[in-house]
This record gives sequence, structure tokens and C-alpha cells, in this order.
Amino acid sequence: MKYSDFIEGLPVEEIKRIQDRLLEEAVTYAWKHSPYYMRVFRERGITPSDIRGVDNISILPLTQKENIQEDNWAFLSVPREEIAEIVSTTGTTGDPTFVALTAGDLERLACNEERSFGYACAVPEDLFHISVTCDNLFIAGIAYYRGLIKLGASVVRIGPQNIIRHLDLIRKLRPTGIVAVPSFMVQLARRVSSNGVSAAELGIRKIVLIGDSIRDEDFRTNALGTLIENAFGNVCFSTYGITEAQQSFCECSIRQGLHSHPDFAFAEIIDEEGFPLPDGEMGELVLTPFGIEGMPLLRYRTGDMTFKISGPCACGRNSVRLGPILGRRNQKLKFKGVTLYPKNIENALLCVKGVINYQIEAFTGDDETDNIILRVGYHGNGEDFRAELCEMIKAKARVTPKVEVEHPEQVDKRLYEGGSRKAMTFMDRRVKRYG
Ligand SMILES: [Zn+2]
Repeated sequence: MKYSDFIEGLPVEEIKRIQDRLLEEAVTYAWKHSPYYMRVFRERGITPSDIRGVDNISILPLTQKENIQEDNWAFLSVPREEIAEIVSTTGTTGDPTFVALTAGDLERLACNEERSFGYACAVPEDLFHISVTCDNLFIAGIAYYRGLIKLGASVVRIGPQNIIRHLDLIRKLRPTGIVAVPSFMVQLARRVSSNGVSAAELGIRKIVLIGDSIRDEDFRTNALGTLIENAFGNVCFSTYGITEAQQSFCECSIRQGLHSHPDFAFAEIIDEEGFPLPDGEMGELVLTPFGIEGMPLLRYRTGDMTFKISGPCACGRNSVRLGPILGRRNQKLKFKGVTLYPKNIENALLCVKGVINYQIEAFTGDDETDNIILRVGYHGNGEDFRAELCEMIKAKARVTPKVEVEHPEQVDKRLYEGGSRKAMTFMDRRVKRYG
């Protein structure tokens, strides 16, 4: 398969024609090779000839993570000997799902990332410090690694290590770029400035950030992004990826949304009933990746809430852009008439000095509605602190939850309750409703 370098610069109608054809190919491939889709198509009486381009996509049923969890290997569409690598999701909700990639899929992944880094202004002269996990079945680290090498840049594949080791390597090798999660960059900046040195002096000019979003709904840099940009300069690019769809999106220098690659995936935003939403309206991101051999997916529900923008970007690209990821579908809270996500509260917490750690707990109240308790770790007695906290949450998240200020150690205990390896910053104790 040949990937064009310039598809995102084509007129919108031409991009659509290409996507029409790629979708038809993806549907035919899944129908022929994927045991899962063979069954689904048969049960619903769908044949590939029913799908004539992206305008018809809603004929296809949605695919959920649970469908993969129920029968993971029914998605495998090649003989086992053609699998080159198996990766998995982190399994934060339920069992992890495995994704098998062929050599062709790995090449596709590299091409996707080569382009994404190109959007983030990476050039062959760059040296990138990769601080995210490159093993343990994670797809992202290896995608960045392969993409940067394909682009002609150099890489230092360090992965998660202690901050002193990172800093030592950064000082010795002088990378021009870094791939990291935002909290790592905050930690790095704090470490550097504690020695009276400015983080900007490290010389990192391109920071590609995965994981938490650094932009608000209106693309202004949020509190987390501001912490990083104040320390390193205005050099951050947000990226977002989804393991199951083997797909990533990345900001360009205009920083008005995450650019999609039109010949790699078709992106839809749907409402709670599964109907497509127009530009600018928040809903769930649904992806149909193109050209996947190992485990193709059609209309995969990512669970991530965002919106899309179809108009051209000031950078000259005409590809559909996604807004920042504003939350997870299953974490949506309805609190006293206000719809919000834990992320809204987290963003507010970042603006208050003295917050050591926190846990947001949601539970079902006597009146059957969502309730929120926020527990914040703080050193000191904290009446002024609590007032500032409440004010900030009211301003940023439009709600006034119950706030309990606790000793940070106590909050830590809650975060790792039951031996959890990951800090549970959002504890969902709501009574589950289905449907
Ligand atoms: Zn752009």
C-alpha cells in the first residue's frame, strides 16, 4: 500500500472520494477475513455492496470494546503466523484487549506517526527523547520510535526511568524534542527549577504530549499545559492515540485541534443514541481505521468524548480535526443539573497551589442522582485553601461538590485502595444503570 504525503492538502471533495473508496475496501476486507464481522454482517443481512462510501457508514453497526473483550481472537483476520507483534490496552476498565499487528500494520503505524510528528514540526535533524513506555505491550512508545526513525530523526528510547536519569541524559545528549505525558514534564520542570536553572535552558523545542489533554474546549491552553509552557516555552503539541484502532492524531503549529489522517481512518462523533453529530458538538469519537490487516475494526467506539471540525486549518491542511479529549463516556457525571467529567474538576485542581494529591469520588445519592465528594491532600489546616479550592472548581467546572481536605498520606491510601497499581483519581461508586 502506498501512503500519499499530501492527502490532507487536497480539496475536501477529493479527500471524501478517497475515503469512500478506502471505507469500501475496509468493509470488504472485514467481511472476507474477520470471523467477528462475518458473523455480524450475516446476522444483520449486510453485504459490502450496501456500503457506498462514507455517507452510508451508519448502516454498519458500532463495535464496542466489550465485543473484543468477549471474543478477542474472533477479530483476528490473518493466519496466526502472519502476526508480527501483539500489543494490549492498559485494561483500566475490565480485561485488557489484545491487538495483533502484521508487519504491514507496523509499517502503517510508522507512517501514521511519521506524519503526526511532521505536524508537530519534527525534522530529520531532531533528536527525540522518548520517555513513555516502549515495552510491556504498549503500542504508543514503539509507534513513536518507528515513526521518528521513518521521518529521519534520531531517538533516545529511554522509557520510564527516574527523573535524575532522564535529566542526566537530557543534559548530556541535548535532545531537541521529547515525547512524554504532561505530568512528567511538570515533574521535570520542577526538578530543574529546584536547582535554580530555567527548564527552557534544556533546549527542548518540541514537546509532544500524550495522555492528558493540555487544551480546553476552546483550544486555549489549560492549567496543566500552562505549567509546561511557562517552564519550557510555547513548544507543546498535543497528540492522542487509540490502541485498538492503531491510530493517532496530532496538533499542528496552529494548535486548533488534532489533525486526522484521512487515508488512515474515518472519524465520526456520535450522540448517546449513536446518531452522528455535526461539527463542534460534543459526543463520542468513533473510528474506522483503514488498511488494517491483523484486526480490522469498523465504527469502533473509543469511549472518548470530543468534537470535530471539518473546515480547513490555517496550516493549509483540509483533514478533519478533533477537539481535545474532554473525558470518558462512562465517567460522565450529572451533578445538580450540570453535566461534567472528572477532568473538569482535575483541571480546576491544577490551578490551586498546595494540592498534593486528590481523589474524586462519585456515588449515587438517595434521590438516585450523581453525587461527588472531592478529597484533596494538603499540608496544613486549610480553611483558606478550601475556600480557594471551592471557588476554582465553581469557576472551572460549574459545580460545588463536597470538599474534604485530608492529610496527603490518607489520600494516597485511598488512591491505591485494594492494591491498585494505578492511582485511582476517579472512584466511581455509582449504581450502574444499563441501556
Ligand atoms: Zn493545522
